[in-house]
Amino acid sequence: MKDTADGPVLAPDSAGRERISIYQPEDASLIFPQTPEFESHEEERTYRKQHLVAACRAFDLHGFDYGFAGHLTIRDPERPELYWTNPMCVHFSQVKMSNLVLADHQGNVVEGRHALNRAGFVLHGAVHEEYPDVIAMCHAHTVYGTAWCSTGRPLDMISQDAAAFYKSHAVIGASAGQVAVEKESGMSVAKQIGMNRAALHQNHGLLTSSRHSIDDAAFWFIALERACQQQLIIEQSGIKPQLLDDKTAAYSREHVGSDYIGWLHFQTLYDHIAATQPDMFE
Ligand SMILES: [Zn+2]
Repeated sequence: MKDTADGPVLAPDSAGRERISIYQPEDASLIFPQTPEFESHEEERTYRKQHLVAACRAFDLHGFDYGFAGHLTIRDPERPELYWTNPMCVHFSQVKMSNLVLADHQGNVVEGRHALNRAGFVLHGAVHEEYPDVIAMCHAHTVYGTAWCSTGRPLDMISQDAAAFYKSHAVIGASAGQVAVEKESGMSVAKQIGMNRAALHQNHGLLTSSRHSIDDAAFWFIALERACQQQLIIEQSGIKPQLLDDKTAAYSREHVGSDYIGWLHFQTLYDHIAATQPDMFE
């Protein structure tokens, strides 16, 4: 995975490793998550699958389940035309290494025993096809996200956290409310996701994508749902919020809203889930 961040050049850490974020300690002896490097496709595949499972379980912890709705995808490192996804009709809390599904862009299950989510395949397949550099996506029908999506409005820059989505989220009105099972609908959504980190699909729900990792896509999905919740609370209060100015929002987006920071945030969740739910590895 490639880390990207703009901003001042930081001195390397004491082990000579490049630092791209101020959060990375200069003292390399301190315990701190390191982005992995892989010796083989197999090793990278295992990592991606484990983090996909953890992302599903993080969605469970956050209450993002709604029947069979919701799907997360990560490309296979060796065969990028294929992607790993959660099985259809399996609760996020019960997704594990052994029930993941490997699918192609035509929606055929290449590996795995379970069916895949047809709507998920159309949406994710279309984005993965349109943008070869997008490697991961998340989608779910969440309470606050879906509620905010009904307004057809983008998020206001009410906080540093919301600024992660500054000029990087799209409001998609086209095909609003229709179950996205038709290829045409998927392509129209895919085009509009474009270079954005996130999409608010009107009358439907939230989507995030990542060119970095499933960790990045999953964390910013959680952050997006939270931003929608906070926005609704403010709207309901009737109090007019003070908004970040453009310069501050752009600064926050670059320094605390990068794809690396999304990955880094998610490591907290990954370690918690790996420690408390060891059946994820089965
Ligand atoms: Zn959906």
